[in-house]
Amino acid sequence: MAAFGSVFMPRMAYSTFDGQQWSTPTLVAADSISLHPGAHVLHYASTCFEGLKAFRHDDNSINIFRMSASVKRLQQSSQLLSLPSFDSQLLDDMIVDIVRHYADEVPATPGSMYIRPTHIGTEPAIGKAASPSKTSMMYVLLSPVGDYFSGGARKLRLLVEDNAMRCAPHMGMVKSGGNYASALQPILNARQEVDADQVLFCPNGDVQETGAANFLLIDGNEIITKALDSSFLHGNTRASILTIARDMGFTVSERSLSVDELLERVAKPGCEAALSGTAAVLAPVGTLIYQGQEYTVGGNAEADTPKTTQLRAALNAIQWGQAPDTHGWLQRVSPIK
Ligand SMILES: *Cc1c(COP(=O)(O)O)cnc(C)c1O
Repeated sequence: MAAFGSVFMPRMAYSTFDGQQWSTPTLVAADSISLHPGAHVLHYASTCFEGLKAFRHDDNSINIFRMSASVKRLQQSSQLLSLPSFDSQLLDDMIVDIVRHYADEVPATPGSMYIRPTHIGTEPAIGKAASPSKTSMMYVLLSPVGDYFSGGARKLRLLVEDNAMRCAPHMGMVKSGGNYASALQPILNARQEVDADQVLFCPNGDVQETGAANFLLIDGNEIITKALDSSFLHGNTRASILTIARDMGFTVSERSLSVDELLERVAKPGCEAALSGTAAVLAPVGTLIYQGQEYTVGGNAEADTPKTTQLRAALNAIQWGQAPDTHGWLQRVSPIK
């Protein structure tokens, strides 16, 4: 099976902003774009993206999960990066058009079609380090993906890092390329030094998130996760899981969680920890590593993670059309007539 995100549909939805207006979106070849080597994005990282999924239901309909939340988030990322603005309708149409074009290629569940809208500053002007790009390009790539847990839900090892930051604090809520390059060195070091899968960034001892997923502590009937602020990415999966958890009767505490409190709670029997994001929905964490010491989540490396599994199954059931979409999260793509 090819690595996640390495296979693309041959065409993509495409539109450009010329400084005045957006072009009528078209479908173009997805294997290349034309860009001046002096383009703003290549020098000053004026780039943002989204990640969402379309699912095939048993009736063969194709359904996009939380599209309007993703479109809003790309609008917000664009604004915070001083990229040109766009109407939500433009990106709605681009996403729906390309998904409809490849409706037959959407894998059956637990697979899905991963959708990657991208917005970049294209003005060829290397003198604009301190000014925005007047022009930009937006495109929507599709990548069919299989079952994230095909190899079983192996529990993750996280290095708890209270020194390094993932990115500059005011950039945390922007889904922007530079943030991921910014987090790479700490992640690579953690892999090499303690065989960690991911780094849990905890600047000043405040538990935040990993390189590309939000963190949730599930202690008994309570879910604790950092309250939204501009320092970290506001995951749509995080929001969806918290909503479902409230529906199920969990107590949801969106508040600051210190490394001290985390380590004090996490090894108790029955405690669970998980990472949330579009790719995996909710992935169990098995071990935290802090200052050379390993903390086994729930006190038992072999233990099941029933709450993580239950919450993931409940969200999957909505995505897969097996439970009512009571929150209106699915957008059905009507077939081509
Ligand atoms: C995309 C992302 C997430 C998860 O967001 P979802 O909308 O749930 O996929 C969390 N953290 C970072 C840094 C991200 O880039």
